[in-house]
Amino acid sequence: MEKPKRDIQTRTIHGGDVERYGDAVILPIFQSSTYLYQGQTEYEALRYIRLNNTPNHRVLHSRLADLESGEAGLVTASGMAAISAALLAVVANGDHMIAQGTLYGGTYDLLVRDFPDWGISCDFANPQDPESWESLLRPTTKLFYVETVSNPLMQIPDLGAVTQFCREHGLLAVTDNTFATPVNFRPLEHGFDVVIHSCTKYLNGHTDIVGGAVIGKAEFIARANRRLLHLGGCLDPHACFLLERGLKTLVLRVHHQNRSALEISRFLSKHPQVERVNYPGLEGCGDERSKSLFEGFGGMLSFELRGGNESVHRFFSTLTIPLVAPSLGGVETLITQPAVTSHSALSTEERESLGIRDSLVRLSVGIEATADLIADLGHALDASAG
Ligand code: PLP
Repeated sequence: MEKPKRDIQTRTIHGGDVERYGDAVILPIFQSSTYLYQGQTEYEALRYIRLNNTPNHRVLHSRLADLESGEAGLVTASGMAAISAALLAVVANGDHMIAQGTLYGGTYDLLVRDFPDWGISCDFANPQDPESWESLLRPTTKLFYVETVSNPLMQIPDLGAVTQFCREHGLLAVTDNTFATPVNFRPLEHGFDVVIHSCTKYLNGHTDIVGGAVIGKAEFIARANRRLLHLGGCLDPHACFLLERGLKTLVLRVHHQNRSALEISRFLSKHPQVERVNYPGLEGCGDERSKSLFEGFGGMLSFELRGGNESVHRFFSTLTIPLVAPSLGGVETLITQPAVTSHSALSTEERESLGIRDSLVRLSVGIEATADLIADLGHALDASAG
């Protein structure tokens, strides 16, 4: 009998195939690099941590697939390991891909600095302008890559146009859903073929591991897994355990962060020291049709501060709750200047052309009381004016 589809809040705790060991309610950490040989005849069937198939991996594979409405899932050693394994399962020497211009800096850097060395080329598209995409197509184009909410400008591309374009031209539609999380948007339910996460962020939620995930059709995940096994990007079982634990509170955290970030965005957009706020929950930020598919807009926002670098330094040094650090998606509020952290690998010209100025500040809203965060931000904004 087919299991009834339960709410995502229940599925973060009970979803997927849970194996029980020794009557333990919680899956223990299987800290064994290898397992007894059971007559397997295929390499990938051997039980070994690098082959990503210990009980700690298997529970995550099925739970993540369940949360993103996919056939199969794969956990990886980092978000970048997920991105490289997924992309290299599709593109090879001589192939071409299209990607959205404003991406996480590491992904952008992989596409412009590493892929050309391996004979893979990439053209960048304006995600809000579908008319311009056809001119980028080549006979060797294999996929279109976007972020459902882009880092750090929080743009939501025209997601329906991306999947339709991919169907019309036989491309794989791949998206990084790290910022949205499956709580707010599940891309596979809306025509995407492959979903990627940096689990370092919201899925784990506690800023204590680095991990990644790829979710999609079983046949695709098998291909990505083969790439991963030889690139060596497996997640260790202790990190798997922490990720499984973190996932259980994903919905509670994200619902709070959705509400808090919206309230903070509204506050910031009225403050005289703030020139512009980027948050998809505000009117005029991102594609309206795509936004109607979202159940919330997440805990990430960015804003331009008046007064340039000096003002940013005064602002950061006055804050008492947000910690000045890169990364995002944890229970504590983090604040950063993308030009010197997540996007520092880009040249000043590249950053300017993408709209990432030095005065841009990115806030990852944690689960502290919203009123305390607003009071602290307000005080530091007043001080930033000098
Ligand atoms: N994707 C997005 C949207 C990110 O923000 C990041 C990191 O900040 C990554 C991927 C890379 O993830 P990781 O640091 O886990 O490799």
